[in-house]
Amino acid sequence: MRGLTAALRRQKAPQLMRGQRNPKAPDIGKLITVRVSPKTRARIDTGPRHRTFCIVSNPRQAVRNVPKIEQIDAFIVDIPTIRGHVLSMTTMRAQSAVIVRLRCSDGSDGIGEGTTIGGLSYCPESPESIVSAIDTYLAPALMGQEANGIAHALALMDRHARGNRIAKSAVEMALWDALGKRLGVSVAQLFGGQIVQDMPVAWTLASGNSDTDIVEAEQMIALRRHNIFKLKIGKRAVREDVAHVGRIKAALGDSASIRVDVNQAWSLADARWGLKGLQDVGCELVEQPVQARFVNAMAELTRSYEIAVMADEALGGPEDALSMASRKAADVFAVKIAQSGGLMRARDVVSIGQAAGIALYGGTMLETAVGTAAALQLFSTVEHLAWGTEFFGPLLLKDDILTTPLTYRDFRVAVPQGAGLGITLDPAKIDFYRRDKARSLHAVAGE
Ligand SMILES: [Mg+2]
Repeated sequence: MRGLTAALRRQKAPQLMRGQRNPKAPDIGKLITVRVSPKTRARIDTGPRHRTFCIVSNPRQAVRNVPKIEQIDAFIVDIPTIRGHVLSMTTMRAQSAVIVRLRCSDGSDGIGEGTTIGGLSYCPESPESIVSAIDTYLAPALMGQEANGIAHALALMDRHARGNRIAKSAVEMALWDALGKRLGVSVAQLFGGQIVQDMPVAWTLASGNSDTDIVEAEQMIALRRHNIFKLKIGKRAVREDVAHVGRIKAALGDSASIRVDVNQAWSLADARWGLKGLQDVGCELVEQPVQARFVNAMAELTRSYEIAVMADEALGGPEDALSMASRKAADVFAVKIAQSGGLMRARDVVSIGQAAGIALYGGTMLETAVGTAAALQLFSTVEHLAWGTEFFGPLLLKDDILTTPLTYRDFRVAVPQGAGLGITLDPAKIDFYRRDKARSLHAVAGE
């Protein structure tokens, strides 16, 4: 209607800087009254002289203010762990996390994280390859794109880079954080809203020594921090590992749930012995006992023993989840945002698990508090995590990189509140742990 257009035009503000909000532009939801022209009144015969409209959108303003992706920075932070973390494939003494900072044309920004375990020993992506993929391929593809179009951004990243799920996940996470901050809502709200405020959180015992692990577990129970323990095994002979698990279960009794993660180390023959022995000593769950590609072996183990079998490395996104579910190759899915290729795809993995009647578990790549906050946001929208979570990543590190650390209490971890991921990076900590800054400082000091 011409009257309405004219009314909007009259409210047009003077020239604005890019990203600046027009204070005179009609607000969404505002009621605006316009005069109906005599010509229109004559046509529709008996209308009122004035009509009131509610502003639901202003296309001119919308086009002008669509935020664009302006800058994406990715860098590695190296943070020491509180102790050696002994896995079947390596021993971690530090975690190298990739942090992404994304800035948009309206001044909004987002934080993301892409992290793997043990350099290149866990999966085909390393901290260095994640930074390289973002800097060289993903960031250039996204420059100038609409920051609200996260599905489009993901499609663009897929077009420019095959695989590289962790790198894509880090950028996607930053886009969700920025969108949430722009709208003033949490990422959980963007995924349908929070159902739970906190969730159970397991601790991983991975010192490699039974007595040390027992002392550590007893401390965790006494502090009311954890009573679910995952033991990292697979480095020693199967019988030795089963005896190690048995000693810890016997010491802790019913005060704790004991589970193991083999990280693909066993052959099918090893796994048959292992699963039988583990369930006999009271272990409740075994995670990824054989290589991810041996789906038939996972199916056989799932079928043949009472102990629950969980898929982890085998789940590289929705396609793998569908394959594992259709071949009945797991009782439980360990759903990880990074391994799935982002929050949207992790949510798809959750949905496939739910549809197939497969139990769910919130998995970690031992992320810092950034990736952990993203996982908390996403999994707070899932009604039933039958096996809880392992969102303890920040606790394994000697230092936290947030201004306000996540809250662990009464065997649970709380979902951070606030817009986006609900977290703020501590700039001094980031500066201290950044590998590129450390390198330049080192060069100055050494030369
Ligand atoms: Mg695992």
